[in-house]
Amino acid sequence: MSEHAGLPSVRWSLRGLNEEGDEAWLIRGVSRKLYRCPGCHGEIEIGAEHTVVQYVRRLGGTEHHHWHRRCAEELLVPQLQGLKRVPAGESSQDKLEARGRRKSGQRRRR
Ligand SMILES: [Zn+2]
Repeated sequence: MSEHAGLPSVRWSLRGLNEEGDEAWLIRGVSRKLYRCPGCHGEIEIGAEHTVVQYVRRLGGTEHHHWHRRCAEELLVPQLQGLKRVPAGESSQDKLEARGRRKSGQRRRR
């Protein structure tokens, strides 16, 4: 495995759980506008390869942030449990949003 085995690529995304039990999906992205990295509060330049962190909340709903690859690897990855590589196709925006809705549906009481 390369030194970047812990980083998302075109083929692979990563999925782990944060301490609240929410899923955190790390997905390779290329920025189409300027983003601010929550790790270092610095800018991510347009066109830069970076890491999209998409949360699927335990109680339903999704939320995503754009991180520098290095910041995600150094600051976020160590906080995640059970981090696994998953095929990038599993981490498309609509699949993850559907996942968030399903979780929300399970929680509903009738
Ligand atoms: Zn950063």
